[in-house]
Amino acid sequence: MSDIATPGATDTAPPATITFADFGLDPKIQKAVLEQGYTIPTPIQAQSIPHVLAGSDLMGAAQTGTGKTAAFVLPIIQKILRHASNSASPARHPIRALVLTPTRELAVQVAENAASYSKHTDLRAAVVYGGVDMKEQVSILRNGVEILIATPGRLLDHIGSKVANLSQVEILVLDEADRMLDMGFLPDLQRIIDLIPAQRQTLLFSATFSPEIKKLAQSYLRTPVTVEVARQNAAADTVKQVVHMVSSADKQRAIVKVLEARTRAGLSRQCIIFTNSRLGCAKLSRALERDGIKAGAIHGDKSQGERTLTLDAFKSGAIEALVATDVAARGLDIPDMPCVINHELPYNAEDFIHRIGRTGRAGSKGDAIALVDASEKRLLDDIEKLMKRKLDVQPLPEGAPSQSRPSSSSYGSSSGSRSSYSAPAKMSDPFFYKPYEPSVASVSTVDAAKPEEKKAGITPAKPAVGALLGGFKKK
Ligand code: AMP
Repeated sequence: MSDIATPGATDTAPPATITFADFGLDPKIQKAVLEQGYTIPTPIQAQSIPHVLAGSDLMGAAQTGTGKTAAFVLPIIQKILRHASNSASPARHPIRALVLTPTRELAVQVAENAASYSKHTDLRAAVVYGGVDMKEQVSILRNGVEILIATPGRLLDHIGSKVANLSQVEILVLDEADRMLDMGFLPDLQRIIDLIPAQRQTLLFSATFSPEIKKLAQSYLRTPVTVEVARQNAAADTVKQVVHMVSSADKQRAIVKVLEARTRAGLSRQCIIFTNSRLGCAKLSRALERDGIKAGAIHGDKSQGERTLTLDAFKSGAIEALVATDVAARGLDIPDMPCVINHELPYNAEDFIHRIGRTGRAGSKGDAIALVDASEKRLLDDIEKLMKRKLDVQPLPEGAPSQSRPSSSSYGSSSGSRSSYSAPAKMSDPFFYKPYEPSVASVSTVDAAKPEEKKAGITPAKPAVGALLGGFKKK
């Protein structure tokens, strides 16, 4: 799953059971992490954070989706926290950490994370990128900001008009450096880096270690620690995947039939059902309850307390069907499952792999059932392309709402009786994914800007139209 190579350092990999508390982060940062629902660091976090805190340059082989953002943002906040000031004077808020990303969407995403993780501190985070009016960005930069996330071209524009000054930058992050090179940013990168003090810490993240990246690393990093974390892009072999073609209107009844078939086969009814929207999640959960299935919903509108209660009920068996959106599922430690049902296919194929990765973990067997209607055919194609395999389309089990025939092999992969499911010990899930597109959550983060920030012109326009925004803070 992950390994570490440390050419420039003598450290060994940290113990597998490391927790966020072990990093010695300031309580304000730990509080924010807890509020995100993170309990265990992902491998890239466990391996990178101590090195960043120790001041090493770092070269991380990790893609978006591995928890990489927190791997650099959390220790950055810790390191620059000593500069935090509640003074209104812009002079007290120079740029201390600069994160360069190849795309606007990634910049927004990183900025949202930076704003969340720093929300209990007096540090400011903001994002600037091209393709939108500069005015709002200018006002944000003039007010002062300690953590700046930027795409290179637009940052150079601001430097050119003397709105951004990099002379006090202590930490530089090149995020998705391989993509930056692909997109021809090298000359811009060079110009920016020339403006940053040589006495800095540099962190470089890249999905590949191509010769170009190695060259870049050599010229910009000093005896870097190298941390490597792989992201799976295939489901475990132990997961048996089945697709049922079902019209949207029949999907809820199809779930009931699927669970009845599992009961008849002596399998556990315990399952996670993924939906795409919060509203759909809540509605489905209620509808299943009416059908006699013990169901509970977790989604982004639920408080952390409610989510924990529902999850505990699920783990104890009081709830059989946990209906979840990706947002909720990601931030929670959901244990290994005998069965995952996709009520709808996710819009992003990689999310599908994340969802079905909830079953068949650590060598145990599991069933992943997708209910697909005709309008989702394109999403199914994308998923099959990503997984490089065709999924088995089977009729629904007997008694199902469509005219399908019973299939004895439908859920035959699960070995043995699972009528008494018990949750395994907590484990970290190394597999996270978040698409580049700004999420709905990003809109609300932005909308949650303080009134005075809005007044100060920090309120972003809608990411959908690619507007600038300050991914600003705070609660
Ligand atoms: P990233 O690779 O930074 O884009 O992160 C991918 C997703 O993982 C994001 O939705 C993060 O909020 C989430 N995430 C990051 N760290 C953790 C963690 N330690 N536990 C649970 N979720 C996390």
